[in-house]
Amino acid sequence: MKNILIHCCCGPCSIYPFEVLQQKGFNIFAIYFNPNIHPLKEYLRRREAFIEVCKYFNVRYLCFDKDYNPQKYFQLINFRENNRCFYCYYMRLEKTFFIARRGKFDLFTTTLLYSKFQKHNMIFEIGRDLCSGSKIDFWYYDFREGWKIGQDKSKQLGIYRQEYCGCIYSEFDRFKKELMFE
Ligand code: SF4
Repeated sequence: MKNILIHCCCGPCSIYPFEVLQQKGFNIFAIYFNPNIHPLKEYLRRREAFIEVCKYFNVRYLCFDKDYNPQKYFQLINFRENNRCFYCYYMRLEKTFFIARRGKFDLFTTTLLYSKFQKHNMIFEIGRDLCSGSKIDFWYYDFREGWKIGQDKSKQLGIYRQEYCGCIYSEFDRFKKELMFE
């Protein structure tokens, strides 16, 4: 049985990937490491949803709350808002890779690959580049195929479903139409 470390961005996006990984017989360990999420209350709500889903699927997990540091996220972005997703993916995948290497996992992956709104090619290339020369592989899987299954299940379980990707920029993009311009 292969050991896989999965980075999770939230609860709803973890549902279908957990189903797939369990069906394929992987030994799963999940981590929640998302310093990109703003504000802190939103981070905590998503964290709670993630834990609910882990418990439902009986998946072992760890939350990296000590690494929740918005300043570091903004330093990383460094006013490169237009290319922010690259740095955001890199930050989270690099951490996952380091943990996978330290824990001697066979593979690592991410629930970002469940989202229809994320840049799959970019995620794949980052994952592949991180593993080059190591004994770990990035496990790419197009979890988007189960979009509806995951959405339906999250509603059925009453799991908190967020309204924006995570960072303050994505929140602004999501709600800016509600601003009143004179
Ligand atoms: S839009 Fe999402 S993936 Fe992109 S930087 Fe913001 S939180 Fe990260």
